[in-house]
Amino acid sequence: MVPDYHIHTILCKHAQGEMGDYRKVACEKSLPEICFTDHAPNPDEYDSEHRMGMAQFPEYKKIVLSLSDDNPPAVLFGVEADYYENCTCFLEDWLAEQPLDLVIGSVHFIKKWGFDNPNERSVWDSVDVTNTWRIYFQLVERLVDTRLFDVAGHLDLPKKFGYRPSDKDLKEIVQPVLDRIATAKMAVELNTSGLRKPVNEIYPSAMLLGLAYEREIPICFGSDAHLPEEVGYRFEEALNLAKDVGYTHAVRFSGRHQISYPLP
Ligand code: ZN
Ligand code: FE
Ligand code: FE
Ligand code: ZN
Repeated sequence: MVPDYHIHTILCKHAQGEMGDYRKVACEKSLPEICFTDHAPNPDEYDSEHRMGMAQFPEYKKIVLSLSDDNPPAVLFGVEADYYENCTCFLEDWLAEQPLDLVIGSVHFIKKWGFDNPNERSVWDSVDVTNTWRIYFQLVERLVDTRLFDVAGHLDLPKKFGYRPSDKDLKEIVQPVLDRIATAKMAVELNTSGLRKPVNEIYPSAMLLGLAYEREIPICFGSDAHLPEEVGYRFEEALNLAKDVGYTHAVRFSGRHQISYPLP
């Protein structure tokens, strides 16, 4: 099996279980490596109900760094950090100061709208769907251009509830963004949490992943586990998707550097 590079912890207030139990499940599923990537804290109140406070970060770091022993799976230290307006003021210095293996960059908000939050789902019925995707990918483009992130998280997250543009519109919207991801040498994750959501599809779709493959954008795998039993969730399907579009390799991370490995 392949590493799981997208795992949350109870510190984010919407996940459950001991961090050791997440590793235990990874061990049972024979994952060679996992990376905790809990929602990064910030000092500016941004989305504070879904993340640890700044004061909890040292505890997070301490536990993650203490979880590795001589046996697999190795445990890497990461965060899922949101791109939002003015996030760089803080992230630029803060990320550089942490001994991180991996930083996932995600967009979860359009202005004040948590477009992937089930409680705010009804907003989708009152917006222009295609235009909303356009705005989302403008934010992803800015995320990429900061050069602060290693992996683009759940790249087509706006599809979560099934609201999506035509393939033709989506292609036109996403290709310039993928060009920038390729230039930035960022990776894209195959995030299996979409299989637990109404859309019932891995992020990104086969079409988007095919466009990423054409641009030689590296990939990694993540379950976005918020429960221990979700670690490695339906990774067989993610592996098949990767191979179906042509991938033969994925990347591991260490100290924020990519290391290519052949898919099993
Ligand atoms: Zn979360
Ligand atoms: Fe996320
Ligand atoms: Fe996540
Ligand atoms: Zn996520």
